Amino acid sequence: MKKSTLAAVLAGGLAVLPAAAATRFVLGRRRAEQVWASSHYPKFQDVGTVQRLSVLPLIDWYTASDELTGEPGVSYLIRADDVTILFDVGLNVGQQHPSNLLRNMEALGVSWDEIDALVISHPHLDHLGGMNHAQAGTFAPSAGFVDLHQMPAFVPADLTNPQTVSTVVTEPTVLFPGVASMGPIPRQLFFLGWTPEQSLAINVEGKGLVLIIGCGHPTLQRIIDRAEMLFDEPIYGVIGGLHYPVTASRSERWGLPAQMFFGTGKWPWDPVNEKDVNEAIAYLQARHPKLVSLSPHDSCDWSLNAFRQAFGDAYQDLLVGQEITVAADDA
Ligand SMILES: [Zn+2]
Ligand SMILES: [Zn+2]
Repeated sequence: MKKSTLAAVLAGGLAVLPAAAATRFVLGRRRAEQVWASSHYPKFQDVGTVQRLSVLPLIDWYTASDELTGEPGVSYLIRADDVTILFDVGLNVGQQHPSNLLRNMEALGVSWDEIDALVISHPHLDHLGGMNHAQAGTFAPSAGFVDLHQMPAFVPADLTNPQTVSTVVTEPTVLFPGVASMGPIPRQLFFLGWTPEQSLAINVEGKGLVLIIGCGHPTLQRIIDRAEMLFDEPIYGVIGGLHYPVTASRSERWGLPAQMFFGTGKWPWDPVNEKDVNEAIAYLQARHPKLVSLSPHDSCDWSLNAFRQAFGDAYQDLLVGQEITVAADDA
């Protein structure tokens, strides 16, 4: 083969790869918009309420003490009256056993015996327990054996763990009294592909809904719209990840500003910007929430500060080991 022909073939191959990715992105985005536009659900009947809700972050980036280990993933222990849910199982980079999640659980005195169910927000590595699980369609809280007693796991896509009984949540569903999955909302991401993500809504008596969010890929606006479609109760609080890596911030330590480009739902040359964050803040401010706690696992410090300033006394830092509580007035 002539040198010039070889160069032409190579150039053609290089051009085809991004073209295929761009086509996948355009088609997936269109499909996600169609799914969103056709997703009409009636209001929940008889969701019930809880008297007391607490959210204890077991995995996230920042920690409340040096005995705990942070990582850019999510795992939150949710206690809603008598029901205890583990929401996502962290990143476990390096596939350690025991994982940071297991070690933080031990340090915080949390045992598997008290957990009734798992909820997985979406099929990304920082929520499933590692890249190998994201590739295999599985999830695990550690790299070695953990007896999960065949507890139920509510997942937004076909995801399994041999120690749990998985149920794929395809639409808004009441999981426990006062605790609902708002159903998956899909988003097409340029690099990470099709991403269905479910968020929880927990109805605290006399207060309203506390939304618990994994990565926030669907956008905060759509998650709020979904909550308002399903409930008459006001939005009392929002806790979790919303994916606002406006600056490279902490992710620079990995040598690449990875989060600015991965997982945004926008074109790679159009990262999330200050305007995106300010629009989301304004949308949430219009609901006058009494509790806002933004996960640092997928948002930069600039965005954390923007939320902190916007919501004032309603804002609470989200730290591993620091429980966030909401209780009915007489609870
Ligand atoms: Zn995430
Ligand atoms: Zn994600």
